[in-house]
Amino acid sequence: MTDPHELRVLNPATEEVVATVPAASEEDVAAAVVRAVRAQRTWAAVAPADRARLLRRFADAVDAHTEELAQLEVREAGHTVGNARWEAGNARDLLLYAAGGAERLLGSQIPAPGGWNVTFQEPLGVIGVIAPWNFPMPIAAWGSFPALAAGNAVVLKPAETTPLTALRLAELALDAGLPEHLFQVLPGYGATAGRALVDHPDVAKIVFTGSTRTGREVMERCARLVKPVTLELGGKSPNIVFADADLEAALDPFSFLDNSGQDCCARTRILVQEPVFEQARDFLADALAAVVVGDPADEKTRMGPLISRQQLDRVRSYVPEDAPALRGTAPDGPGFWFPPTVLTGERPDGPAATEEIFGPVAVLLPFTDEQDAVRLADDTPYGLSGSIWTRDVGRALRVSQAVRAGNLSVNSHSSVRYWTPFGGYKQSGLGRELGPDALTAFTQTKNVFISTEGPAQ
Ligand code: NAD
Repeated sequence: MTDPHELRVLNPATEEVVATVPAASEEDVAAAVVRAVRAQRTWAAVAPADRARLLRRFADAVDAHTEELAQLEVREAGHTVGNARWEAGNARDLLLYAAGGAERLLGSQIPAPGGWNVTFQEPLGVIGVIAPWNFPMPIAAWGSFPALAAGNAVVLKPAETTPLTALRLAELALDAGLPEHLFQVLPGYGATAGRALVDHPDVAKIVFTGSTRTGREVMERCARLVKPVTLELGGKSPNIVFADADLEAALDPFSFLDNSGQDCCARTRILVQEPVFEQARDFLADALAAVVVGDPADEKTRMGPLISRQQLDRVRSYVPEDAPALRGTAPDGPGFWFPPTVLTGERPDGPAATEEIFGPVAVLLPFTDEQDAVRLADDTPYGLSGSIWTRDVGRALRVSQAVRAGNLSVNSHSSVRYWTPFGGYKQSGLGRELGPDALTAFTQTKNVFISTEGPAQ
């Protein structure tokens, strides 16, 4: 039975209770927004260099607590400890990048007959950030830190299962000297705290990361208040492997197994050109068998558990026991384990090939030529990311122009850099995070016309 007043955080590798955290009510959200409105007014008046200095101090605090934050992420989310350290580093680096942006937020001046136009980029006010459980720390950071740097306050609602790293980040922000109530973290349920944040008239913008289904509802509710929204939603990304590619690099199983496949950018549609299809299948069979799945706190582990029993049931529902597949191994319970799996007998338009499974499961499909590859790559409602592997530069450029996705990589599986824009096409989302425009996404433009003609006589 779920208690509406508290959240029980389970270690997904052991099913032990790691912590119990109060769940915010609608009233708690409303009170937090009132405090945030006040804090934001003070913060917006802080000089850019001072704002940047405080954010850099916050970055230093994150850096000094990397190991603690990483171990928390291991315990609440089941991330491998190596990945969790990277995530803390990503949060730190984004803070440093955003601090630099705080010093360079400019307006402009547009000449006009009889006067000047002065154009300002003003902070929006209070930003509501709603995060999922799959990357609790980085996604809390992406939505919040550029918003703070641009002069806003943030109220962040982490996912029900993973509130701990976000709560710790908020404590570190306070320790670093950020004003009280500027960065508030309110763990709670989506249907209560999440909705209350979305519906609050003094929350100026919502940054939502999560499933396409919930994102649709969030957008509908924001529409009622004409509230801007950034949506970072699901994915079903292609890994397009041409026959001339470096097969070993292209078929790295961590292109879809990272974070146990609970990665919106996971390359879960492995598309391989026909001449090397059999070779690819053999390579993947060996690669899956070699993946070390187990205790995520162990430095040697490459893949941990899924987040919850609910997620395990969902993944299982896509992989019947008799489905033709290549399979690795995984521990038995306790814990929410599923083996690395590549389905080999799926139809390209079937559920496993087109729906986001969000587990360590990919489908392997053949293609004939460039056109066929692009058609298959785009044949889902999603358009978040993808990889193109070939030694032919012209083809790499043609295919990366043709595929409809927000983040592509050529001869690489990398998707996320804090200094480049990130976001989806189609039902993968709306708006962009990170990159050079991350701060301006949290501002609104005001133009003031100043007459040089003097007051009318
Ligand atoms: P989810 O949609 O179930 O929940 C996401 C968040 O929304 C949680 O904090 C939840 O409490 C909250 N929520 C739920 N109902 C709500 C409502 N009615 N109003 C307001 N908030 C509500 O998603 P999830 O299962 O936690 O996360 C997995 C999904 O996130 C996957 O689809 C994944 O692809 C997506 N994701 C996308 C990106 C991206 O950048 N595009 C990144 C990570 C995860």
